[in-house]
Amino acid sequence: FKEELNGAEKLRVVSQLAASVSHEVRNPLTVTKGFLQLLRNENIEYEKQKEYLALSLQELDRAEQTITNYLNFAKPSEKYNVEKLCLKKEIEYLVEVITPYALMQGVEIVISTLKDGRFVFGDKHRLRQCLISIAKNGIEAMPNGGELTICTRKGIEENVISIKDNGVGMSQEDLERLGTPLKTKEVGTGIGTMVAYSIIKEMGGKVKVESKRGIGTEFSLVFPNEK
Ligand code: ADP
Repeated sequence: FKEELNGAEKLRVVSQLAASVSHEVRNPLTVTKGFLQLLRNENIEYEKQKEYLALSLQELDRAEQTITNYLNFAKPSEKYNVEKLCLKKEIEYLVEVITPYALMQGVEIVISTLKDGRFVFGDKHRLRQCLISIAKNGIEAMPNGGELTICTRKGIEENVISIKDNGVGMSQEDLERLGTPLKTKEVGTGIGTMVAYSIIKEMGGKVKVESKRGIGTEFSLVFPNEK
């Protein structure tokens, strides 16, 4: 049942991100089309031709990268496989996948202090699913734009990933209900955080949430320190 729930939740996130990915791919295509139209003019200087071609290729590379990142996340994950995961690499991946969605919602992603040499043990695809789900909620909490700040911290015995927004925030009551299925329609299904919590628990970690209405929310994923 848990497998099915994870799969269903991932499919939901995948389809919710699709619109922003299409949007992010359309921009470079429009730009490239513009350059190709300019290049149809035979009187254009050689230097300009070269410049337009270079810019077009750059834009197409960007579109291709956006699609590749998305498809990597969307593809069904192979079987459960625990390995040593580099937090810096995982956060870089998170930022790549979530950026189109953030741009579409007018949210800036700020990454601070990503240091090498911080690791956790777990299944890569599951951790990615969990990070994307929490970041996505953070973005959705800022309907008028804002900043999503992502960082890692290291304590003596723990490694922390922090995902913080300056969005609508949650009441004490909302906070207590997080990670359980929600009954009221207007606050969502609660399944995203439920799945995320179970993934972190499976990895031996904990989720801490601090939130204030009108100020914002910080999700801290706390993992035992791995060398
Ligand atoms: P859903 O996908 O249905 O929104 P989630 O479990 O992902 O379910 O989230 C449940 C609810 O918790 C959200 O609908 C939202 O009300 C609240 N929530 C989660 N993260 C945040 C956040 N960063 N800021 C404000 N509210 C949040």
